[in-house]
Amino acid sequence: MTAAALVPGRERTDEDRVAVRIDALTKRFGSGAAALTALDEVSFRIGAGEIVALLGLSGSGKSTLLKHVNGLQAPTSGGGTVLGTDLATAKAAELRALRRRIGFVFQQFHLVDRLTVLENVCTGALGSLRGPRLGLFTYPRPVREAALDRLDRVGLADWAFQRADTLSGGQQQRVAVARALMQEPRILLADEPVASLDPESSGQVMRLLRDVATQSRLTVLCSLHQVDVALSFADRIVGLRRGRVVMDVSTAGIGREEVMRLYREVGADPE
Ligand code: ADP
Ligand code: MG
Repeated sequence: MTAAALVPGRERTDEDRVAVRIDALTKRFGSGAAALTALDEVSFRIGAGEIVALLGLSGSGKSTLLKHVNGLQAPTSGGGTVLGTDLATAKAAELRALRRRIGFVFQQFHLVDRLTVLENVCTGALGSLRGPRLGLFTYPRPVREAALDRLDRVGLADWAFQRADTLSGGQQQRVAVARALMQEPRILLADEPVASLDPESSGQVMRLLRDVATQSRLTVLCSLHQVDVALSFADRIVGLRRGRVVMDVSTAGIGREEVMRLYREVGADPE
């Protein structure tokens, strides 16, 4: 919720209700006969606080879409607004400001192995730190305290001073979640966050993501390729197939039959 929404008597603005609005977004790579349409007139909205799974097979355009929502790629045509920032027209500085309000979790964790868990979480604040170049051990005390708080939220405060590469895959992804929470983002994007994990760690990470999202009233867009994971995690599923939205459904009360039908719709063979 933005500050405006907390002022009594002030109307909630559209930005308070809709965190992400994607409108006819098309992204092509290359040109001429070799052009590839990665996203084809994609449109959807995500309400503030909603938890949405982006479901689709490899190559369906999930990562490309997440990069657009994060302002890392420019649309070929169409666009949308994220937290009120227009993706098609925003200047580089506005996009950097937008990215400070968005946390990002990757499939491959991307921790620095030789740094401690705490230092890895501290790096999540680099985008907003000012001043001379920071040495690895000179994060200001408030940053280190914030990092410990985030580690506490993901249940890993006891691991703060271990080297990152001594942790299991599931723990490393929880550290990456803590890092993404450093700047108290309004939106959390996750790109196949559990694709490298075993089912048990995967379940733990998805439950954690849901818990922190609910506690911090985060808006979440998380790409996944397993429909059962999407169903247990998300309020809504947006399905992509070959760059097009092929479904947009609430997960409330959906049974297995429906799941398999959805699975076919995103282009996967049923079991
Ligand atoms: P997903 O994340 O669902 O696997 P991607 O968004 O990575 O799908 O890719 C969608 C399509 O766009 C794929 O055909 C991929 O090869 C292509 N693509 C993605 N990024 C680029 C790029 N930077 N240059 C050229 N083609 C790309
Ligand atoms: Mg991808």
